[in-house]
Amino acid sequence: MGEVTLQNVSKRFGDDVVAVDGIDASFSDGAYTMILGPSGCGKTTTLRMIAGLETPSEGEILINDERVTNEPPQKRDLSLVFQNLALWDHKTVEENLAFGMRMRGVDREERRARVVEIAEILRIEDKLDESPAALSGGQQQRVALGRSLVREPELLLLDEPLSSLDERLRLEMRTELARVHQELGTTFIHVTHNQEDAMTIADEILLLNGGRLQQFDDPLELYHNPANEFVADFIGSPSMNLFDATFVTDEETYLDAGAFRLTIPARASDAFRDNVDEGDVRVGVRPESFRVLLDDRSPVRNGTPTIDATVTIVETFGDFNWYYLDADIDTDIVVQSADEAVMAGVDVGDAVTVAADVDRLHLFDPRTEAALL
Ligand code: ATP
Repeated sequence: MGEVTLQNVSKRFGDDVVAVDGIDASFSDGAYTMILGPSGCGKTTTLRMIAGLETPSEGEILINDERVTNEPPQKRDLSLVFQNLALWDHKTVEENLAFGMRMRGVDREERRARVVEIAEILRIEDKLDESPAALSGGQQQRVALGRSLVREPELLLLDEPLSSLDERLRLEMRTELARVHQELGTTFIHVTHNQEDAMTIADEILLLNGGRLQQFDDPLELYHNPANEFVADFIGSPSMNLFDATFVTDEETYLDAGAFRLTIPARASDAFRDNVDEGDVRVGVRPESFRVLLDDRSPVRNGTPTIDATVTIVETFGDFNWYYLDADIDTDIVVQSADEAVMAGVDVGDAVTVAADVDRLHLFDPRTEAALL
């Protein structure tokens, strides 16, 4: 069991800093949860409160239904992995891994068995006799992770464990973390500012901004049904296209962005009318929810809204491209396309027409930023 519940948890530092502001969340037992958000949003403070290194100013923390709000770290069945690995270079990897067990009086044979088991899971079993200093960054990271795992904690807390690694190692270690989590079934709570890391391996993401909970959901829910404009903008790369428009329901239902109109076809207009008041809105369209039309080769459904624009930049990724479009509004429109005909035929300076997928349009209240659809 490694279930963590935060009940209206806040943390203030002095009179001015509200690092964490009234968070309610229940982290599922055995899940891989990422605490995600921009710098200074309260991620580490939240983790430190779960660990017992920081006491909440308000609210309660429960681990396995037991109130631990004021308990010290050693009274909580958890283990921490920090960004700073703090390995001992004058000891071997095995000694590093076994140190905690030795302090607790675990006998030599059991220590050895447990170290070998964890080293095999982390694929460092051939490094046990070496000094951590002789290992690569990724291997050192595994030793640090192993040192936490040999304790068999019910709860593993990781604070930006990937941030000091270069891109390649980061991706490798990320996969490793997902694999180890699957193998052990321990609850992982992992702090990151990297939305891609969170999207790829988390079972659930707690997204914070300014100390406040924005959304706590599985990654695809955050992606497809963002609760507000912040979530929509933070999740996904490139970011969701967001622009101002006026929602109009006349004979036609449409979004008027000034330079262009997105007409809402009859089949979808009731859903829009039921949820959105006439007037100012923020429109959100993911880059892959636009499709570049190629004259006669790109059939469009009747009533599908389109935008005319000029291509200003093309970024190539091999199996897809990003097109930056000038559509005469105050922001670029970014379109992602994996269509080979588009990738071969569309270049900088071209005039293009793109169609938006109406079923994937997002609308936000410009005042509260809350999702409207
Ligand atoms: P980062 O990604 O940059 O590490 P974070 O999301 O982990 O940021 P926290 O470290 O939790 O954010 O900090 C949240 C806010 O609380 C910040 O404004 C930070 O300056 C402040 N803060 C954190 N710890 C303290 C402290 N011990 N004393 C005063 N202010 C603090």
